[in-house]
Amino acid sequence: RGGLSVHELANQIVVPETEIIKLLFFKGIATNINQTLDVETAKMVAEEFEILVETAEQESEAKKVTEMLSVEDLENLSKRPPVVTIMGHVDHGKTTLLDSIRETKVAQGEAGGITQHIGAYHVDVTHDGNQQQIVFLDTPGHEAFTAMRARGTRVTDIAILVVAADDGVRPQTIEAISHAKAAEVPIVVAINKIDKESAQPDRVKQELMEHGLVPEEWGGETIMVPVSAINGDNLDTLLEMILLVSEVEDLHANPDSLAKGTIIEANLDKARGPVASLLVQNGTLRVGDSVVAGSVFGKVRAMIDDRGDRVKEATPSFAVEVLGLNDVPAAGDEFEVFADEREARSVADSRSDEQRRSRLQQAMASRRVTLSSLS
Ligand code: GDP
Ligand code: MG
Repeated sequence: RGGLSVHELANQIVVPETEIIKLLFFKGIATNINQTLDVETAKMVAEEFEILVETAEQESEAKKVTEMLSVEDLENLSKRPPVVTIMGHVDHGKTTLLDSIRETKVAQGEAGGITQHIGAYHVDVTHDGNQQQIVFLDTPGHEAFTAMRARGTRVTDIAILVVAADDGVRPQTIEAISHAKAAEVPIVVAINKIDKESAQPDRVKQELMEHGLVPEEWGGETIMVPVSAINGDNLDTLLEMILLVSEVEDLHANPDSLAKGTIIEANLDKARGPVASLLVQNGTLRVGDSVVAGSVFGKVRAMIDDRGDRVKEATPSFAVEVLGLNDVPAAGDEFEVFADEREARSVADSRSDEQRRSRLQQAMASRRVTLSSLS
């Protein structure tokens, strides 16, 4: 048989016709959809795409675990605030706790108490006589952990496990414990709703012991704080305990390098264009920086913090909303700042190519190229 058309070949190897025409064009062969290719050429095309697919597979394997800190970073470490997520069974009070901490700690003393939703907020806490910060992610803990696991990155330093004192350990409580354990994230338990008549905090501790969390006062290692999210009882103690755990964890980063971190939220704003909240995990992010997140590029035009204020920089563990990206990145993607704008653009562009390859890879996964099928 005298070869096959571009159209037939495209069907056989499950690659878009335009990709085949493009490839041949770069090889100096002008074709159209109906043109007949000889077997040699068809094989060459199939081979090229198979190589492309294999490279993409290898690259995605190699990138699964990325190390954030360089040797230079390790020599310039300084203390950073803990990044905390709240987990627990539905209706046990996660949202109420987040709101309550935010209201009592952020709104007070701020002009008008206006806050900006950027997917995270920070509070100031006096601990051991110094003012320190804690950063709370307001993505539900389960989602944050699932995204982290999928990408092999770690965004949370400490998990607060909320357990309602009138309901005890429930399926999502157990799930939260196993997520945190798998990610090796320490847990602080908030035994919530202690204002209720039916609250049984000791029963909750008993039940948690069955799942490997032994309260400190019973000789174990897990800090458990009875709280009422609704009326604010003991929230100060809870925050102090988080700082205590944070000290044990010895959290550090290098503020003197170019920023790296994770996209925690992103959307397209009608008036402002693509808007993303970036959690800085190392380095300092500044207005004017050239950022790459996945295949998205941007020069930071403006940054807004959780209090709605425009800021010029964000140091490790802080989150800011960033304007100036050329597209909407995916939540959970890592971002990185480059010293050279052209380099940043070309990294973003090559990631776009990579994405194109991985789409091809998916299309071909169902029907892999078999060279023998072409002759
Ligand atoms: P989530 O599903 O874990 O986010 O739980 P929510 O924060 O939405 O709370 C579920 C319900 O429990 C709401 O009706 C809250 O008002 C109530 N709740 C939360 N915390 C407390 C508390 O400390 N005491 C009491 N009595 N009710 C609470
Ligand atoms: Mg909720």
